[in-house]
Amino acid sequence: MKSNLLLFISLAMIFAACTSQEEVNVYSARHYDTDQELYADFEEETGITVNLIEGGSDELIERVRSEGVNSPADILITVDAGRLWRAEEADILQPFDSEVLEERVPAEFRHPDGLWVGLSKRVRGIVVNPDAVENHEELTYEDLADPRFEGRVCVRSSNNIYNQSLVASMVETMGPEATEEWATKLVNNFAREPQGGDRDQIRAVAVGACDVAIANHYYLAVMITGDDEADQEAASQVEFVFPNQGEDGRGAHINISGAGILKNSPNKENATRFLEYLTTPEAQKHFISGNNEYPVNDEAEIAEVLQSFGDFKSDAVNVSALGRNNPEAIQIMDRAGWK
Ligand code: FE
Repeated sequence: MKSNLLLFISLAMIFAACTSQEEVNVYSARHYDTDQELYADFEEETGITVNLIEGGSDELIERVRSEGVNSPADILITVDAGRLWRAEEADILQPFDSEVLEERVPAEFRHPDGLWVGLSKRVRGIVVNPDAVENHEELTYEDLADPRFEGRVCVRSSNNIYNQSLVASMVETMGPEATEEWATKLVNNFAREPQGGDRDQIRAVAVGACDVAIANHYYLAVMITGDDEADQEAASQVEFVFPNQGEDGRGAHINISGAGILKNSPNKENATRFLEYLTTPEAQKHFISGNNEYPVNDEAEIAEVLQSFGDFKSDAVNVSALGRNNPEAIQIMDRAGWK
């Protein structure tokens, strides 16, 4: 009898210890050491343990879906609004309710119904050989389809989500027909069949295989700051242009890294707190440092290498349009012959 009582007490103690252990379970498709340091700071500040599971974006979405109501996942972090949209479509997210997030993150970088929030920004701009392109600082995405760029454009394949999101943003602002016309002419201007990643396009501009390329800003930043001498040399030959900056220009196309709270989140309060933490100026500085992204909170400092890129105007389209228009963008690129 006595031993039963002891067993009961010890089980009760274990149970109490388990439930008082505050935690947040993060499924992340971002893989930067700086993110891990950031999570450690959060743990120290709040006493909430961060359990991190890393994986590919689609893999994590599938995992949450198969775990169903028993999923321990509180937060999904991923890159590209197109991927956040996939999570939205998989119906695994729930809206957050946080005035702090609404205040710190501009509306265009949040889902209209609060299903996810942007944490950092990436610009898909134009990398140019400044000696080969006149008035390159005035370039627009539309210009790249102009006959003057015949045989001079490099860009990676259309199965890449960054390109899909760029085209989706154009569908939103120009409409599908004008976008298709643009895409068709752009394909006619290709210097070569799409191949490689964004860095390969930048290298191609540096060696003169093309005069302009479409690439995310941080690939150039990492070539400038990295240890690879050939890449440093290539980066010094080119310049990053923020497109559509003119007075009536809509601004450069922006995509985000972002996060949402999962539908069956067992620790929703901690999850909200975690997201709020990631948008503080201090945390933002670390969150963006792993990949030289731009902060969503304007009060956060930007990386030194980005200061040389200068200021820019962003497209004000809500990034949720990038996911919504994704299927149409893919069809348009397909019909345009963008491999
Ligand atoms: Fe990338």
